[in-house]
Amino acid sequence: MGKGFFNVPIAVNEPVKSYAPGSPERDAVLKTYKAMFNSKIDVPLYINGKHISTGNTRTMSPPHDHQHIVGTYHLAEQTHVEDAISTALEARKSWALMPWEQRAGIFLKAAELIAGPYRAKINAATMIAQSKTIHQAEIDAACEFIDFLRFNVQFMTDIYMEQPESTSDAWNRIEYRPLEGFTYAVTPFNFTAIAGNLPACMALMGNVVVWKPSDSQIYSAKVIMDVFEEAGVPSGVINVVFGDPVMITNTVMASPDFSGLHFTGSTFIFKELWKQIGNNIHNYKTYPRIVGETGGKDFIVAHKSADAKQVATAIVRGAFEFQGQKCSAASRAYIAKSLWNDVKKHVLEDVKSFKMGSPEDMSNFITAVIHEGSFDKLAKYIDGAKADVDAEIIAGGNYDKSKGYFIEPTVIVTKDPKYTTMCTELFGPVITIYIYEDDEYAETLKLVDETSEYALTGAILAKDRYAITQATDVLQNAAGNFYINDKPTGAVVGQQPFGGARASGTNDKAGSAQNLLRWVSPRMIKETFVTPTDYRYPFLGE
Ligand code: NAD
Repeated sequence: MGKGFFNVPIAVNEPVKSYAPGSPERDAVLKTYKAMFNSKIDVPLYINGKHISTGNTRTMSPPHDHQHIVGTYHLAEQTHVEDAISTALEARKSWALMPWEQRAGIFLKAAELIAGPYRAKINAATMIAQSKTIHQAEIDAACEFIDFLRFNVQFMTDIYMEQPESTSDAWNRIEYRPLEGFTYAVTPFNFTAIAGNLPACMALMGNVVVWKPSDSQIYSAKVIMDVFEEAGVPSGVINVVFGDPVMITNTVMASPDFSGLHFTGSTFIFKELWKQIGNNIHNYKTYPRIVGETGGKDFIVAHKSADAKQVATAIVRGAFEFQGQKCSAASRAYIAKSLWNDVKKHVLEDVKSFKMGSPEDMSNFITAVIHEGSFDKLAKYIDGAKADVDAEIIAGGNYDKSKGYFIEPTVIVTKDPKYTTMCTELFGPVITIYIYEDDEYAETLKLVDETSEYALTGAILAKDRYAITQATDVLQNAAGNFYINDKPTGAVVGQQPFGGARASGTNDKAGSAQNLLRWVSPRMIKETFVTPTDYRYPFLGE
């Protein structure tokens, strides 16, 4: 800096395109989808700006057509991970000194590349790799990712502007240094935006990164790296390695220069990584920052005063969009008895109207779940519910993995509020419903609070304002993102910063200044203008 106090463009949310029949964006994305689906890509490791082919490869296939191959990716050996670390540390020497407005320029450019020339490509890649409908791809890979990039630049300048008081004889200033060492981003399959944001927001704040994407998201991760390269992220600032997560993590965490983990994924893995950092703590030069956004068992509570159609829509959208594979997806619902018949009717009508299949056919609302492991786990729980006297399946319950990993959206009703599918994160298109007596609202809220280890999202639907107030109070610690008269999914960057507590994560709110603050280490500078020359204070006088 030093030659101006620069204002960055005011961040605005990227408008969501409709992809209605006949729209230009629909034609563009379908054309791109077809071209990508019918060709094969080869995804290298990205180390020091070089594309490294290791020759040890795995194939990539769309979850909705698992025998069709769309490309290969290369697996890292331990030496590649070590190279990624040393390269990042070398790149830090220049990157940490780069003026912030230059870093901002790179990531604002990345946002515009996604909004324009890369939009169809990143959406089509997300449809192919993660089996998202075009709407789900658009709100994630295009819009949310663009929003992360734009808003983070604004939040960065907000942070930099946060300065202490000074006096006429001493000037106090804080500089927000990047962490000393290198950072590690470990990202999940389910959001292309999260995959891109975790490494990008650390790099934006001046850090260098080793990024390990999920095996199930590598196809769209390549588009992210294409964008970063074209936007001008310098060599060595974001290095990408694929492969054995245990070997990669062991190598990263063995380095004394490891200074931060930015993780999104399941709770168990995050706890294991935290433990590993703790075990290595004496080896590190600095206390590593640990940020993790993890699992959820997200709820909908419908009070007797709620509108049945609104409740049904919240359930159907909240539980089944992207096959329930959002960390925020509704997976347990508590419905007042007097409302249930109407809610049930609407839910069953809606579920019956769903079409399921490939995202290329845009009339499909439901596509495939991510991989065979997820499919088998969901099938097991559905079979369990079929056999269990405590549970009744009132919609769905079928599954088929002959071509793709298709699970019918499934609604389980249980008489046991602690039934296994009321407590366990399944991460699929399955919701379990418990019907409570209208006059047991207070007890039910307590039940909601105490049933799961998680506290990510939740929703109350009611017209009665006392009921809303009561739920807001009792459920204060049950959700980091709490919704009144809405579904519990669909957080928008800049509007609803996202994250949960308890077993759902460190609640550092992705898409907010709070998150970016974790990736800086402030240095306080006091400059005194007239420096004392005598140690004696006036009180020492005779
Ligand atoms: P996952 O935990 O299986 O994988 C996440 C990442 O961890 C991947 O990159 C994976 O390769 C890596 N990993 C797996 N085992 C590892 C190990 N032993 N050591 C180091 N890394 C390892 O999660 P997923 O299936 O990709 O994503 C779904 C999960 O993520 C769900 O639990 C969901 O709730 C959660 N999620 C949470 C949020 C949030 O904001 N709270 C957002 C998205 C997803």
